[in-house]
Amino acid sequence: MQTPETPQCDLCKTPLRQGHTAWHFICRQCGLEKTTLIPQINEIQTINETQRAQALQNLRTHNFATLLSWLGQQCANQRPAGQRPTLLEVGCAHGWFLQQAQANYAAQGIEADHAMAQQTQAKGMAVRSGLFPHILKADERFDLIVFNDVLEHIPHVSSVLQHCHQHLNPGGYVVINAPDSEGIFYRLSKWLTYLGLDASFKRMWQWGLPSPHLYYFNTATLKKIAAANHFSMHSAMPLPSITLDGLIERIQYTGNHSKIKSWIIFYLIKTFLPWLQAAKPDIRVWLLKKE
Ligand SMILES: [Zn+2]
Repeated sequence: MQTPETPQCDLCKTPLRQGHTAWHFICRQCGLEKTTLIPQINEIQTINETQRAQALQNLRTHNFATLLSWLGQQCANQRPAGQRPTLLEVGCAHGWFLQQAQANYAAQGIEADHAMAQQTQAKGMAVRSGLFPHILKADERFDLIVFNDVLEHIPHVSSVLQHCHQHLNPGGYVVINAPDSEGIFYRLSKWLTYLGLDASFKRMWQWGLPSPHLYYFNTATLKKIAAANHFSMHSAMPLPSITLDGLIERIQYTGNHSKIKSWIIFYLIKTFLPWLQAAKPDIRVWLLKKE
C-alpha cells in the first residue's frame, strides 16, 4: 500500500520530510501534508456501501444543505435572469449533493467507481462514469466545480486545479469540501502517534481503504495551491464533522469495535461534544475564485 521513495511537495518541488508514520510526509516550506498510500479504487472493494451510506447520510445531507445555502450567498450568478448556474460535482458517489443542488443549479456529476455511477444514474441524475478531467470534452465549461470529500483523494492536486481552471467559465468557482489539518480530531490523532497509538491517525488518512487520503489541507496550504494555479481564496466556512444523529452507526461502521465499546465511545463523545464543537473544526469548505 506504499512506495519507498520520499515524495516531493507538489508546490515547492522539494523533498518532503518524514511525518508521523512511514507513509506520512510534510513540506518544510509550505506545510502541505501528503502520503505515499496508493489508491486502488475499482480494484479492491472492502467497503460495505449500504453500511457506509447509512453511517454518513444524516451528517452529509445536513452539511450539504448548509453548504448550498452558503454558496448561494457567496457566489455571484453571472447567468441571465431565470437561468441556473452550471455545476459539476467531481466524485458524486450516491448523488446526495447533486440531488439537493438541482433546485438551484444545472447540476451534473462524475464518478470514478463504475458500479456507484450506474446506481446514481439509475436514480435519474446526470452522472458520467470516469475520471476528472479525462471524461470531459476539452471545451466543456462550468460555473462551479465541486469536490465533496474528493480532492484529498486525487493525486497531483496542482494539476487538478489547472484542469479546473480550464473547465471553468470566467469568474467561476472551485468548491473544496475536505478535512482540515487544523481540526481538533486530526491534531489529537497526531499527538496519539507520539504514544505509539496510530489507529486514529490511520483512520484519519483512511489507511487500508481502497481510496485513502493522499493529502491533508488547511487554509494556508490551499491559499498557496490556489495562487500557484491562478485562483484566489474567496472565502471559507467550517462544517460540523460530528453530530449525535447517526453517530452510533458511524462508530460501528468505522471502528470494528464490539457493541459495548461502540456505546462507550458514543457516550464519551456525547459528554465532550460541546467542547469538541467549540474547538477547531475537522471539516472546512474553501471557495476558490478563478482569476
Ligand atoms: Zn511545499
